[in-house]
Amino acid sequence: MSPVGLFGGTFNPVHLGHISVADQVLRYFPLEKILFIPSYIPPHKNASGVAPVEHRLRMLEIACEGRPAFEISDIEARTPGPSYSVVTLEKLKKARPQEEFFFIAGADAFIEIETWKDYRRLLQECSFIVVTRPGFGIKSIERVVERITPGKYFVAGENAPVKKAELTAGGVFVLEVETPDISSTIIRERIKAGQSISGLVPPAVEKYIEENKLYR
Ligand code: ATP
Ligand code: MG
Repeated sequence: MSPVGLFGGTFNPVHLGHISVADQVLRYFPLEKILFIPSYIPPHKNASGVAPVEHRLRMLEIACEGRPAFEISDIEARTPGPSYSVVTLEKLKKARPQEEFFFIAGADAFIEIETWKDYRRLLQECSFIVVTRPGFGIKSIERVVERITPGKYFVAGENAPVKKAELTAGGVFVLEVETPDISSTIIRERIKAGQSISGLVPPAVEKYIEENKLYR
């Protein structure tokens, strides 16, 4: 079985925080690749202000260029209606039987897991890699883990990369690292206000947003 990370989100737009998460997960976990899965209409967010899915997919493609371990899946993006992780996981398991999946989530997303559809089943059927985010440190993750999972919990970081055997044992893995303090919300707000977003997204994504007049 080939271990693969599933990185879901709105990616509205993809930014250097997302890329840093994926790069660091690959650095500390023996995953073969990371599948970016942009959602169609996010169940936990207001759908207004979300760029059309074709643009979000295209920006991801541009951002992932030159990183062969990054793959983009349109499994949610092209399925109208809310995207649920537990449903996506079931579909992916059927479609890709040789792969073992690990959900990747930033701490801010993970601490909401109790609001996700069938989250207990999801936790049983899939391991998680939770990455700290500015403002959402290890404590915020631990509080939730204590409530929802009965056991296996590991912390990885600078001096503690995870080995393949540890990974296949399953559980909730926390990656305590620094990621840039960037959010898609900030990027959309800056564009609306006519401010520069350089340094927040890859240059080619910045150019794409400009050319297509997105988020104005
Ligand atoms: P928005 O402001 O629209 O919510 P976002 O920046 O949070 O956008 P999402 O598409 O919501 O981006 O996030 C997708 C996933 O990436 C989530 O699991 C989120 O926690 C994670 N993530 C996004 N930015 C960071 C970051 N800077 N550091 C760590 N994790 C991040
Ligand atoms: Mg978010």
